[in-house]
Amino acid sequence: MSAPTVTYRETVAAFGTAGGQLTVGGVPVERLAQRVGATPFFAYDRALITRRVQLLRENLPQQVQLSYAVKANPMPAVVQHLATLVDSLDVASALEMGTALDTPMPPSRVSFAGPGKTEAEILQAVAAGVTLEMESATEARRVVRAGERLGVRPRAAIRVNPDFQIKGSGMRMGGGPQQFGVDVEQVPALLAELAAADVELLGFHVFAGSQNLSAEILAEAQRRTVDLVLSLAGRTPWPVRYVNLGGGFGIPYFDKDSPLDLPAVGANLADLMTERLEPNLPDARVVLELGRYLVGEAGVYVTRVVDRKVSRGRTYLVVDGGLHHQLAASGNFGQVIRRNYPLAVANRMDEAPGEEVTVVGCLCTPLDLLGDKVLLPPAEVGDLVAIFQAGAYGLTASPTAFLGHPHPAEVLV
Ligand SMILES: *Cc1c(COP(=O)(O)O)cnc(C)c1O
Repeated sequence: MSAPTVTYRETVAAFGTAGGQLTVGGVPVERLAQRVGATPFFAYDRALITRRVQLLRENLPQQVQLSYAVKANPMPAVVQHLATLVDSLDVASALEMGTALDTPMPPSRVSFAGPGKTEAEILQAVAAGVTLEMESATEARRVVRAGERLGVRPRAAIRVNPDFQIKGSGMRMGGGPQQFGVDVEQVPALLAELAAADVELLGFHVFAGSQNLSAEILAEAQRRTVDLVLSLAGRTPWPVRYVNLGGGFGIPYFDKDSPLDLPAVGANLADLMTERLEPNLPDARVVLELGRYLVGEAGVYVTRVVDRKVSRGRTYLVVDGGLHHQLAASGNFGQVIRRNYPLAVANRMDEAPGEEVTVVGCLCTPLDLLGDKVLLPPAEVGDLVAIFQAGAYGLTASPTAFLGHPHPAEVLV
């Protein structure tokens, strides 16, 4: 077992510590646990989210707008906070749309993506005045019909499944056969079909994949996306006013991960803006759509040790949380090889690591493993174990009903 990694040290430094305790939003975790009234809980640090948006603004060209992909963390308070910081919100369900519409963000700056949008959802979205990212010809026809029924001109964009694939993404969502978007070779026929329809076609959306830590690969994806959009723009009878370049910015989860080189991504985007997009599509609002990069590192999942036991030489810490709240940390959310998320004994931050322990959750399944053979300060029953990188795809990406334990609280501090 190795010493604490750079990712771990930087994560802890970002949250801060006081009196040997991890702090979130400046509040020591034990105090926060008392305030919440129970463990486990998710705590999100408002200032870290703000700082992350500032970092992006400093490194990306100012003409590039930022959209928050709400599915990464749909807690209403988080979405409210981000609505004051970013330029638009991207939702992928009617519930998320409702959360977004409750914020000060104007409906015209809310976009609705995702496959399988039903007629009912599309009616709601058209009535709300949000932009529909159409994922298929069927959806496009539903959008047109909804507009006719409501007497409202729908705002829409075509999500395009590109003819290239992005390497190095945790989850690939473009290239090859996909349930996402309209294959680029089918877009001209759809444009022809929609030419006479009463729909405000704003532009195109391409999202090739998620969780990429390589600036080089992201830059190449953005170049190819711009090429693709420019080739399609030549076939539209209307000026393109919206180009959503996707996102895919990854965050470091594991020991060997290095953070994304944001200045390099920004430099490439600046070139694309000045050389390709601004001269050819002067009316286009260019958008990057980010989820985990905005919120992932701003959250911790805080659990309490309820048992400590030694089994045939291995020490186990059993905590009151588990994969039912934070599936990704158990390695069961899209990972090929299970690795430990960074974690800490949150009330012993000043103590040196002194023993190797295995941290498990309270579910009666061997899958509920949160830290396999990690080096931690010796911990007792009653101590707090915090799991980092829990701000995105945590609670809402976990099987909360599995085994029927109580639902955790979420706080934005
Ligand atoms: C999920 C999703 C995102 C966000 O992905 P992250 O990896 O969290 O940044 C962005 N756009 C679309 C279309 C998505 O489905």
